[in-house]
Amino acid sequence: MNEIVPSRPPILRNEAAAIQALFHENVVPSYGRFDIVLDHGSGAYVYDVAGKRYLDLGGGIAVTALGHGHPAIAEALLEQSRKLIHVSNFYYHEPQGRLAKALVKLIGPGKCFFCNSGGEANEGLYKLARKFGHDEGRFEVLTASNSFHGRTLAGIAATGQEKVKKGFEPMVAGFRQIPFNDLEAAHNALSPATAAILIEGIQGESGVTPAKPEYLLGLRRLCDEKKLLLLMDGVQDGHFRTGRFQGFQRILEDPASSNGQAAAFLPDGLSMAKSLGGGFPIGAFWVRAPYADLLGPGTHGSTFGGSPLACAVALKILEVVECQKLAENARGMGAFLKSGLERLAREFPQVIQEVRGLGLMLGIELAPAVPNLPGENAKTQSSRLANLLHQAGLLTIPAGGQILRLLPPLTLQRSEAAEGLAIIENAFARLTQ
Ligand SMILES: *Cc1c(COP(=O)(O)O)cnc(C)c1O
Repeated sequence: MNEIVPSRPPILRNEAAAIQALFHENVVPSYGRFDIVLDHGSGAYVYDVAGKRYLDLGGGIAVTALGHGHPAIAEALLEQSRKLIHVSNFYYHEPQGRLAKALVKLIGPGKCFFCNSGGEANEGLYKLARKFGHDEGRFEVLTASNSFHGRTLAGIAATGQEKVKKGFEPMVAGFRQIPFNDLEAAHNALSPATAAILIEGIQGESGVTPAKPEYLLGLRRLCDEKKLLLLMDGVQDGHFRTGRFQGFQRILEDPASSNGQAAAFLPDGLSMAKSLGGGFPIGAFWVRAPYADLLGPGTHGSTFGGSPLACAVALKILEVVECQKLAENARGMGAFLKSGLERLAREFPQVIQEVRGLGLMLGIELAPAVPNLPGENAKTQSSRLANLLHQAGLLTIPAGGQILRLLPPLTLQRSEAAEGLAIIENAFARLTQ
């Protein structure tokens, strides 16, 4: 009988080189991968095929909200898969309805659409903007420089970074970038064709830059005044990572930064993914009530979107976050990590230039020329430093050439955060001795 699923690599089962060879021969080389072959994980730790343990402060790029191998996720998957995995969106089922209700409760009055990824959730927001402006001939979406909105064709047009666009021109029409955190620039950039403005609450991929409270409130006023949709990409900074459900809620929670406007702030559309499924693929977008029925029957869809299985997992994660007070944990552990990193920035100014971020979304901006960094062949300082930390048993996520991100699970324990800081301190001490 012909085998359809290939057998494990022969002789040296699970051996790193054999697995890497499978990739080199058979997987499109669109990612620059690190030289690590992972096998299993538990909580904040992952193990490679040789059994080496890594503290995972990268969280699979802000995805593994409950860490690795969480029994509640395994149970939800098993229980729901026995009942119903998929039915298509021709029919109703309880998990999708309950998840939509839970998200609406966390964000504000409106409705949700379910898909499978962040890029796809943003595609839904672009279509919402087009539908919104269509009858007046408006179609343009303004986005921010240094933003990231995914790798789809419209996603790279929306993304404010040249490197994602290069080689894929011409760009999808109708996207223009404006400087981030610059209200006047947004004002001046409007054209008669503008339908919406889309920003991240905290820019992630370009290196953890939070929006200023007055920028968010100012964009809200501008959008109201000019009849534009204010859209937010909460794919990375969402799902309690900052201590609040959404990054913008955390940014606006300081009452001194506004006068009651902050509590009432809502975007008109919001995309979610990453931590929403804790590693099981699910994306979603929320639309504020006045616009919630714009995408009527037949206008948008997804075969897999909002399957019973994906929604059951997402519901289970929300339940665990609430029962175990993980939003509070993210806030507390984030503050602990950040103050530890700020201490290291004072101790090692030759290595760290600045520490930024909120909760468990932290960025370490490296000094222009970190001394004694091994691995001249790696392109950037951030990936060379990430490699050095890998050797010491710590996973972090580079952002651009100069920034390392920490996006750990919301379940992170104090001892684990302290271990991470100690590994970083050790590595930096050796670089600078
Ligand atoms: C990761 C990310 C995306 C893209 O999500 P995918 O699931 O990879 O399509 C979009 N926006 C932001 C802010 C992200 O961080």
